[in-house]
Amino acid sequence: MKIVDTHTHIYLEDFNSDFDQMVQRAMDAGVERMLLPNIELSTWPALRKAVERYPSKLFPMIGLHPSSVKEGFEEQLSELKNLLNENLKEIVAIGETGIDLYWDVSTLDLQIQSFDQHIQWALEFGLPIVIHSRNAFEAIFKALEPYRARGLKGVFHCFTGTLKEAQWIVDFDFYLGIGGVLTYKKSELPEILPHLPKERIILETDAPYLSPIPYRGKRNEPAYMLHTLAKLAEVWKTTVSDAAEITYANSKKLFPKAWK
Ligand SMILES: [Zn+2]
Repeated sequence: MKIVDTHTHIYLEDFNSDFDQMVQRAMDAGVERMLLPNIELSTWPALRKAVERYPSKLFPMIGLHPSSVKEGFEEQLSELKNLLNENLKEIVAIGETGIDLYWDVSTLDLQIQSFDQHIQWALEFGLPIVIHSRNAFEAIFKALEPYRARGLKGVFHCFTGTLKEAQWIVDFDFYLGIGGVLTYKKSELPEILPHLPKERIILETDAPYLSPIPYRGKRNEPAYMLHTLAKLAEVWKTTVSDAAEITYANSKKLFPKAWK
């Protein structure tokens, strides 16, 4: 069985003490590839170093997380753009970007500008875009609408919205990234997912955050994806290996550069 963690921050210092063992546990669990979304300029060196250590397992993205968008973000963006050009061969996606109105509403205008810049990069370089959306579907849909049918591809990572929002995403030709939240008692995802095409679902951990049950509240890591996968198989009324096969194929389709 092969699976892909399409969104994991294992380059963060949370993993400094057991990085190699954690990667080994992921491989033992069948996690064949891990895709690493960037957070801000300062996190790039550690991300880059992790990818260099396991170049056939770990794949870099580049972007500025919406919660890191502050006054003066344009300078960060222009430096990130330089890094994108320098590392274009390896970079498999633009992200993470998006809009987060949970932590800070005061930067909404700046977040919209930054998000739009990331969309431009995705179109310019033909790369998929990885979107973080928190309390912000309306703003994100509004920002994306002008780009409908322009060939933009991407994923709403850690999707936890309503069925209506999910359907908008599918109609827009995007994917939904499903993580540990699926295993939580109060999650509405088990009710929503059966109404969505299986071809649009990919799996992720968002490690070190959002651990699935039974690790909720503890540090998350890619090996724990098996719990999310098992829950997805249950929701889809299929086998674990079938759910793995489908989500693996979907991941490969959205992020083809991670297979080159
Ligand atoms: Zn993330």
